[in-house]
Amino acid sequence: MKDYIIVIGGGLAGCESAYQIAKRGINVKLYEMKPSVFSPAHSNSNLAEIVCSNSFKSNAITNACGLLKEELRRLDSLLIRCADETSVPAGQALAVDREKFSDLVTSEINKLDNVEIIREEFNKEIDDNCITVIATGPLTSEKMEKQILKLTGKDKLYFYDAVAPIIDKSSINMDIAFYGDRYGRQGDNSYINLPFTKEEYQKFYDALINAEVVNLHEFEKKEIFEGCMPIEVMAKRGEDTIRFGPLKPVGFIDPRTNVRPYAIVQLRQDNEAGTLYNMVGFQTNLKFGEQKRVFSMIPGLENAEFVKYGVMHRNTYINSPSLLNNTFNLKNKPNIFFAGQITGVEGYVESIASGLSAGINATKIYNNDVPMIFSDETVIGALSKYISSPNKRFQPMNANFGILPPLEEKIKDKQERYKKQAERSLKSINKF
Ligand SMILES: Cc1cc2nc3c(=O)[nH]c(=O)nc-3n(C[C@H](O)[C@H](O)[C@H](O)COP(=O)(O)OP(=O)(O)OC[C@H]3O[C@@H](n4cnc5c(N)ncnc54)[C@H](O)[C@@H]3O)c2cc1C
Repeated sequence: MKDYIIVIGGGLAGCESAYQIAKRGINVKLYEMKPSVFSPAHSNSNLAEIVCSNSFKSNAITNACGLLKEELRRLDSLLIRCADETSVPAGQALAVDREKFSDLVTSEINKLDNVEIIREEFNKEIDDNCITVIATGPLTSEKMEKQILKLTGKDKLYFYDAVAPIIDKSSINMDIAFYGDRYGRQGDNSYINLPFTKEEYQKFYDALINAEVVNLHEFEKKEIFEGCMPIEVMAKRGEDTIRFGPLKPVGFIDPRTNVRPYAIVQLRQDNEAGTLYNMVGFQTNLKFGEQKRVFSMIPGLENAEFVKYGVMHRNTYINSPSLLNNTFNLKNKPNIFFAGQITGVEGYVESIASGLSAGINATKIYNNDVPMIFSDETVIGALSKYISSPNKRFQPMNANFGILPPLEEKIKDKQERYKKQAERSLKSINKF
């Protein structure tokens, strides 16, 4: 076994991993391909570059991402500390000055005597005699993709262009929605159906085709529209196009009215616990605020809580449920860890969290020590569990309360419920 740990990728997850390993006294070789090679979204040569929005989302612990940040603060995350130190005013949210943030992370990593930063694209075969953390991100270089395929024995990496929104089941109005499959194959809860009248459909349709969309990067435009058509693009082809496509009502009778709806939106169960449902066929590029406004016009979704909005961008990730343990290392090659967006966590803070967990657990393997498994009552633990649990339709996931186990007591008020879940999580984190 080598007397150092390799971390590949000096992004959010890789830097957090490198810090967690180095602070535990182990030497790190950190590979970063910038500035000789840049992904289509990266543009400065610092480590931990923020590629898009400068927001790390809410700081409130009654928000799952806010709670995750608080867990990370208590676990001594370098990147959350740097984000706090370079924050700019943004109300309840933690937003950073992106240049200062990546400058600070780079200088903090540079200060660590036992981290060697190697500025080159890693494209060698990965040696499982050396503990390695692969954190090359959603835009992993092509050469590295090939190495990962060899390592995982898969013929392709998961690659999605578009993801539909995900809704918290408890926020769906079940007085309007009904369970069941097309042609009345009822009896299971895997689909929830939202029936439209003609009038409701027309109002929704008008809002959909006029809603504001996100500007895509040039490199994304071509790939996305070849792969998967956003609902709003399909809708613009004609008033009935989506009614004959993903919203087709064929085979459905509304059990309350005994009438065939004019159109129907289907929601499909998204997690094992049945607490989350995704919107079938609703890949979208609408701005988040527009998704809330327009999709809340769908009957039954008036008060829907979107735990995740639809997004469209290139994203490379491995099939973690079949490959990874909840400690982010390969089931069949435990010396090899993955961290960041490539594991199927989604978002800046989530990537940092997986980097922290992978880094700590890489040191545990190095020291022949027992792994550090966070309780699934914490957001960091729930994310680790999510990416490593069986899931036939695995898709990246961000922090949300739907992946945490419910409380023993039933609390109707959402804020009160989240507060109790947050207290439970922080109590558990304090033990570490
Ligand atoms: C276009 C785009 C926009 C996004 N916008 C947001 C957003 O607004 N908010 C949000 O929360 N999340 C966003 N994400 C998702 C995600 O949170 C970020 O991509 C995040 O940076 C992921 O962290 P990471 O550490 O996994 O990867 P990255 O931060 O991308 O780090 C990976 C690093 O690995 C390096 N690298 C790659 N291959 C090699 C190699 N072979 N050898 C050496 N180095 C290599 C890269 O240069 C990079 O520095 C976005 C993703 C994309 C692609």
